[in-house]
Amino acid sequence: MACLFCKIINREIPAEIVFEDDEVLVFEDIAPQAPTHLLVIPKRHVATLNDLDEADQSLVGRLPIVAARLAKERGFAEEGYRVVMNCNDDGGQTVYHIHMHLMGGRRFTWPAG
Ligand code: AMP
Ligand code: ZN
Repeated sequence: MACLFCKIINREIPAEIVFEDDEVLVFEDIAPQAPTHLLVIPKRHVATLNDLDEADQSLVGRLPIVAARLAKERGFAEEGYRVVMNCNDDGGQTVYHIHMHLMGGRRFTWPAG
């Protein structure tokens, strides 16, 4: 499996892992765009949002739940934060294993660029 994030899951390449359970892994983004910038990923390889089906509902539903818990733990849940899932080229996706960006600790603008 050539997937970068699967390699992180399998400990074939290093990452700053901050949370792990049977289904989900969370680690620091290597190029943070905010004081906190974490990537919340399913352990099961799914390349893009377009590849999800109904059976993935509970797995993907866990991503924002884990993200919100981390935002609370890190103290910026009340101030607010940004979660993003990019899909394919126009969406800015560069790693083809679905991931939720959790960014907090600064103010974000809208619309996204
Ligand atoms: P996206 O552009 O939405 O696909 O996001 C991919 C993210 O993965 C980017 O924010 C990258 O900075 C991040 N990234 C790439 N390689 C690594 C790595 N080895 N460890 C942690 N984060 C990474
Ligand atoms: Zn993968």
